[in-house]
Amino acid sequence: MSKINKELEKKFGSKKIKFDSETLIEYGQDWYKGIEPDPQAIFFPETAKDIQEIIYFAKKKGLKLLPSGGRTGLSGGATAVCKEIVVSMKNLNEINWIKGSHRLKCQAGVITETAKSMAKEKSRILPIDFSSTSSSMIGGNVATNAAGAKFIGYGSTKNHVRNMTVILPNGEITPLGKVAEKDASGPDLMELFIGSEGVFGFILDVTFETYPEPKFSESICLNADSLDDLYKIIQEPSDIISAIEFLDLNSQLLLSNEAPSKYEVLIELNSDSEHKIEYFLRDVAQKVSDVNLLNSRQTKLFWEKRELLPVKLSEMGAVKFDFCVDKLSTEKFMNEVEMNISKAKIFNFGHLGDGNIHLNIIFEEQNDEQVSVVYEILKSFGGSPSAEHGIGKRKKGIWNRFPQYKQKLKLLETLKKSIDPDEIIAPKVFFDN
Ligand SMILES: Cc1cc2nc3c(=O)[nH]c(=O)nc-3n(C[C@H](O)[C@H](O)[C@H](O)COP(=O)(O)OP(=O)(O)OC[C@H]3O[C@@H](n4cnc5c(N)ncnc54)[C@H](O)[C@@H]3O)c2cc1C
Repeated sequence: MSKINKELEKKFGSKKIKFDSETLIEYGQDWYKGIEPDPQAIFFPETAKDIQEIIYFAKKKGLKLLPSGGRTGLSGGATAVCKEIVVSMKNLNEINWIKGSHRLKCQAGVITETAKSMAKEKSRILPIDFSSTSSSMIGGNVATNAAGAKFIGYGSTKNHVRNMTVILPNGEITPLGKVAEKDASGPDLMELFIGSEGVFGFILDVTFETYPEPKFSESICLNADSLDDLYKIIQEPSDIISAIEFLDLNSQLLLSNEAPSKYEVLIELNSDSEHKIEYFLRDVAQKVSDVNLLNSRQTKLFWEKRELLPVKLSEMGAVKFDFCVDKLSTEKFMNEVEMNISKAKIFNFGHLGDGNIHLNIIFEEQNDEQVSVVYEILKSFGGSPSAEHGIGKRKKGIWNRFPQYKQKLKLLETLKKSIDPDEIIAPKVFFDN
């Protein structure tokens, strides 16, 4: 055992710090497996004081730390690459209702699904919805500002955060957020941690708003060879659409060997007014020829296959892009990619209501030139190269590819230097340090 590991074990005990190869492999990386993990050790704090202690230890010894949640991130943010001590938040998993409110206070290591189920017990919803919520953790959701299928109805994780406590890279425990409903005491510094991917410190706990379950819910499925009819439905804002999910032809064929049309689209409707839903359904029936009301079993089946799709594509070695373009330009964008990429199989699926396309490409031979072509097309559509999966270590290239991020990166670097001058936390995320 190395000298440093001996010191770590002496200080924290063998229950909280681990170095065996199985633990290093399991906790040293996230879901994106394109980066070779290289952790020093895995630390399992049980209290905030443990995190402070590891920060002081790391400062003294010149070590680096990496916050880690459920490791479902898709950008390598939670993959250790330079002998970081991975700080797994999994044992910081207390969850409680704030008395007299509909707010849930969760420590960072609470599994997302646990928080959602707790809300459900009170007929409330915490609308952080995607297929990895049975493994992802609250701290990771906030650190990536996770979005997902219900973005169109409820926004991203950020919209539900009311308060949080963070531990800064100097070890200070800092409560952030409003002290009362209206609180204009300077800028909202919670924002700095939402989507921060760990670079400004540890998110220790988060208080979320929850919402009443809608009284009525329906899902419809559209099969179409063009998205024109769908655009007629979604061009006006609607307060009852909570998700619009789509699969293109290749995605449908991969999942079931049959596809009645080029696109399969599910629209989920939620409302307290049955009348509003009926009105919407009547309107859709007039605009679209092939539309079906789904029963609960059919709805469940759709979401199951949708969840399976990214897993299958990862297993097949697909190159994954997570783009957002104007929602009424999605088909044009997909066609443009199709026309300009050769010797590859292309799969498109995702959250159509927000223009968020998870473009997956299986290249016959992976080819940087073709990847550049895809980014150039995105640029010509004025789209975002990372709609919901963050930057991490994997997507730092976009800073240079997209000139509009130049000033933002500069400001991020300035903030990082001021908050974490020794660059202890989350090295190589966002920056090349
Ligand atoms: C099959 C699949 C489907 C997915 N679908 C979606 C989707 O639809 N929408 C979407 O947005 N995402 C999706 N994701 C990505 C992922 O699930 C989310 O980004 C999730 O929020 C990550 O949470 P985590 O706990 O796993 O974080 P991790 O992967 O552990 O960490 C992610 C980042 O947050 C940092 N971090 C973690 N915890 C803390 C903390 N307490 N304090 C400070 N920093 C921290 C890490 O250092 C890392 O940079 C999907 C992933 C998979 C595998």
